[in-house]
Amino acid sequence: MKPATSIPDAFDHVEYMRRHGHEELYTFHDKDTDLYALIALHDTTLGPGLGGTRIREVAQAPESWKEEMYVSDAEGVWDVLRLAEGMTYKAAVAGLPLGGGKAVILGDGKEKKDAALRAARFQAFGRFVDGLGGRYITTEDSGTSPDDMREIRKTTRFVVGTPREEGGGGDPSPTTAYGVVRGMLALAEGVLARSNLEGVRVAVQGLGHVGMSLVERLLLTEGATVIAADTKSELIQAARERFASQASEGRFDIVAPEQIHQVECDILAPCAFGGILNPQTIPELHHRCRVVAGAANNQLEDEKRDSEALRIRGITYAVDYVINSGGLIHVAQDLDAQGAWSETDDKKVTERAHRIYDTVRRMLELAEAENISTVEAARRMALEAIKAHVTL
Ligand code: NAD
Repeated sequence: MKPATSIPDAFDHVEYMRRHGHEELYTFHDKDTDLYALIALHDTTLGPGLGGTRIREVAQAPESWKEEMYVSDAEGVWDVLRLAEGMTYKAAVAGLPLGGGKAVILGDGKEKKDAALRAARFQAFGRFVDGLGGRYITTEDSGTSPDDMREIRKTTRFVVGTPREEGGGGDPSPTTAYGVVRGMLALAEGVLARSNLEGVRVAVQGLGHVGMSLVERLLLTEGATVIAADTKSELIQAARERFASQASEGRFDIVAPEQIHQVECDILAPCAFGGILNPQTIPELHHRCRVVAGAANNQLEDEKRDSEALRIRGITYAVDYVINSGGLIHVAQDLDAQGAWSETDDKKVTERAHRIYDTVRRMLELAEAENISTVEAARRMALEAIKAHVTL
């Protein structure tokens, strides 16, 4: 049976690109390693397209499909186009001189079992990236690791997100978490009529790289109360140990993963995966919840439908690419650092991520003034930034 997927029926990539304004789409095949890869550039008005390389297996037959697989090659094409477009808006709203690009490697599972093949495939992928002459710059994304980036680096210099010990900025997750907190502060003021996050109840879905760092900031710096969930017992255990004293003060608690979106909170912070807000979960959100603000990409299953459903319930959506741009801000700094990351780079990254507060405030003001959703307001801000550049 064909599994549920968001890919539009009768997907036609040319028609999709025409409708969404994409500039370029490349498909690559390396005969030696049997690598199939896709690179999409959405809009490069502001600069080269920077975005991660995602690797995902394609189900060989409908019965073999598992979660985290593409149903077909076409779904990979749709995904890379969709993700590249998201990067255009993320970079534009963050005020970065970058455009929207993304890459997808259509895996066959062999690279999971054979390290030498995996290395050879990523080197081949690097050659493709290099062939674009810097119009696309890659970095890590779901399914790829620092080791994969190291292989890519052997064949192209157009890769960012290098570990600290190799002169790069290292893990961007703490910057992403910092940006989310800055956005939450703007939302606390604009929506919850609070001047800070003290005593604000935040439900955090996912205690991974960003989630754990976010919980730490919320508890230790902001004085918030946190309810968290993760599917990994080792992360739950780590969080229980780390935040034991806040738990004893009644400021930290854990719930089961399937309950996290339903708990009593002022802010829901999705930090796990996409599509968490949909017609099933939105009606289950607690009536106290007034804000959705988290790091996960593509939090809304359907942007238009689900942003409207949230708005009707009086819940303000922080827009994923506005509030989670700290990660992009962080890796983009690698371009300036040129392999010699220093404290100045850390300072620049923090300063820029700090300004996510102002961006969120502008988005809220625009949404209110124009009586539009925050999704629409964020899109207008991104398009205006691009237009302003064109008319300079
Ligand atoms: P991660 O893989 O480290 O963390 C995700 C966590 O979610 C994992 O611990 C996982 O066990 C947990 N999880 C999975 N299913 C769950 C469920 N049903 N309920 C509760 N928890 C569940 O990823 P990350 O780097 O922390 O990123 C989190 C999200 O933020 C992703 O969507 C990512 O694309 C996005 N994002 C991350 C960054 C960054 O800097 N890392 C930047 C921008 C956006």
